[in-house]
Amino acid sequence: MTAPEPSGPEAERDRAGAAGAAPVLVVGGGPVGLTVANLLAARGVRVVVVERNAGTSDEAKAISLDDESLRTLQAAGLAERVLEIVVPGTGTRYHDRNGRVLFHARGPAPYRLGYPFKNQFAQPELERVLLEALRARPEAEVRFSTELVSVAEDETGAVAGLRTAGPDGPNGHGPNGHGGGHGGGVTELRASWVLGCDGGRSTIRELRGIDMTGTSHQDVWLVADTVGDHHDERFGMHHGSPDRPAVVVPGRGGRCRYEFRLRPDEGEKGVEPDFGTVRRLIAPYRDITPDQVERCTAYTFNAVVADRWRDGRCLLLGTRRT
Ligand SMILES: Cc1cc2nc3c(=O)[nH]c(=O)nc-3n(C[C@H](O)[C@H](O)[C@H](O)COP(=O)(O)OP(=O)(O)OC[C@H]3O[C@@H](n4cnc5c(N)ncnc54)[C@H](O)[C@@H]3O)c2cc1C
Repeated sequence: MTAPEPSGPEAERDRAGAAGAAPVLVVGGGPVGLTVANLLAARGVRVVVVERNAGTSDEAKAISLDDESLRTLQAAGLAERVLEIVVPGTGTRYHDRNGRVLFHARGPAPYRLGYPFKNQFAQPELERVLLEALRARPEAEVRFSTELVSVAEDETGAVAGLRTAGPDGPNGHGPNGHGGGHGGGVTELRASWVLGCDGGRSTIRELRGIDMTGTSHQDVWLVADTVGDHHDERFGMHHGSPDRPAVVVPGRGGRCRYEFRLRPDEGEKGVEPDFGTVRRLIAPYRDITPDQVERCTAYTFNAVVADRWRDGRCLLLGTRRT
């Protein structure tokens, strides 16, 4: 059944915004920005993506993609390509303090959305796939080394202030980047809508004075992404040792994510743990050399959500703070 077309002056304006002269501006070239840009372009909507960095991220951050995300990517015609870079998950095993399996949590079968519930992936690989697909679409333009610094609006649309990196800033020739190096000035771009896909520290959210509420946890966790790993399990493992809770998530091609709760004297948030600490904590699972640690960080968990998701012609997408 087709939903009735919305009517009234606001709907008229919205339709004009989608099909008219001004493109939709997507702020942020992370997984959310690249996905929504692909979705819009696939429907014939002109879209401009601006990303502050010179290219997509090379940090292994998110590692787990659920069935709803795959369904969303399917709507943009990207599911097949993304499935090539994910490990279809088979759930999560929960172990007690002695390593005994307590239970194995799995998504329902048959799959409720056509895909496994939880799937391992590497964020940099996903971003590269999304960018490549976007660049193949004539409706889309991607500008790296370009930062949104202001946004205003009137009756018919929004005006964004964009600052491109100067000659001494990011050169715009990062691994996946192009553009940039335009001299550091602020230019204006007229847009029908502005989509804030600019992460947990969203500029759009701050410019619009939108707060976040939720819970922050004080525990500091070490997170290490490793290569050359022996695990071939296709499920995550949670070890419920009260002294040292740990999470182990094998990925594709010998990648593995390790997470350990740190004791107060073992590290602090934002400070990269030393290799000795990483090696000691991973020792029960594998031996490791410095070059097998792709990335290691210490961080705390925050579960906070923006209080509002729309302010005029600005919409927030995917915003939470981690
Ligand atoms: C160690 C770690 C582990 C994680 N593990 C997981 C996990 O297992 N599963 C999971 O779902 N999530 C995980 N996350 C969180 C995950 O990284 C985020 O959910 C994901 O990156 C959010 O995507 P996004 O596109 O919303 O934002 P981001 O990836 O943060 O992208 C936002 C982009 O906007 C750009 N930007 C910001 N401001 C501006 C501006 N003013 N102008 C132009 N560009 C701008 C930024 O440069 C950035 O590239 C983890 C995060 C960390 C740090």
